[in-house]
Amino acid sequence: MMHTLPRATDRFMLNIDLHCHSTASDGLLTPAQLLEHAAARGVEVLALTDHDEVSGLDEARRTAAEHGITLINGVEISVSWRGQTVHIVGLDIDPEHPELVKGLMSIRDGRTVRARNIAAQLDKFGIHGSFEGACRSAGDGHLIGRMHFARFLVEQGYAKDVKAVFRHYLVKGKPGYAPHHWASLGDAVGWIRNSGGRAVIAHPGRYKLSKSQLEDLLLEFRTLGGEAIEVVTGSHTPEQSLLFARHSQRLGLLASRGSDFHGPGESYFDLGRMPELPSGCTPVWHDWKGTA
Ligand code: AMP
Ligand code: MN
Ligand code: MN
Ligand code: MN
Repeated sequence: MMHTLPRATDRFMLNIDLHCHSTASDGLLTPAQLLEHAAARGVEVLALTDHDEVSGLDEARRTAAEHGITLINGVEISVSWRGQTVHIVGLDIDPEHPELVKGLMSIRDGRTVRARNIAAQLDKFGIHGSFEGACRSAGDGHLIGRMHFARFLVEQGYAKDVKAVFRHYLVKGKPGYAPHHWASLGDAVGWIRNSGGRAVIAHPGRYKLSKSQLEDLLLEFRTLGGEAIEVVTGSHTPEQSLLFARHSQRLGLLASRGSDFHGPGESYFDLGRMPELPSGCTPVWHDWKGTA
């Protein structure tokens, strides 16, 4: 580990947020604005985890240094597992590792194809110009996702906010849904590990899996070398956090904590403003220098 983390008297009290997004993927704030926002909220350690993209990390690191924030190099990789989309966060990755860089590029290329398919589906429902509209909200358009379509649909008056969009559009059975095949679980965990990072299952409570399917996912992930699960995240109820705290302890997986912040007004938790990990969890940052 190369970091020198703030020396907290109690490592559970460290203001640490290991999941958030910038304009490099589908967040609303530029990496610099995001770090300003983190500094204003007293965040001490932040992982920027853009979807399938690491291009925001350089700018984030420069602003983090100005504020004395420890920036962890992160990414959130889109995976297809048994027909479901699962997100794997990589922490402390090497963003220049060739295998990771190539893998992420192939996912981003796939996103552009999917975006054309989403726009074609919306066209069928009489909603036109969404590809161009989504690209506009995606900035330079090198990473395009459903959030960019969601913002376009809000702008056009089809829904009052992005949460409402995801109830009526862009999901299975609704207008603007396009099935897509992402990376495999083994690829994502392998890219993260081979680049020196630690793999974390993002928001495990969000997947529509039976008990036995969830167990299979956790065990397969662990067998592949995955090390942690998000226990506290904007996607979990307090009950789910306790449930996944128990899963982490039972399976010897580390526990992570991240807001999944996308921007003011778009996320359940503000940066760094989530509950602490339940006691008994081993934090994913337990062996990062300076935290114990
Ligand atoms: P994609 O990776 O392009 O399929 O887009 C997934 C992203 O859409 C997530 O990371 C969220 O930013 C957003 N999203 C998905 N479902 C919802 C929801 N129910 N409410 C708000 N945002 C959502
Ligand atoms: Mn997102
Ligand atoms: Mn996610
Ligand atoms: Mn996320």
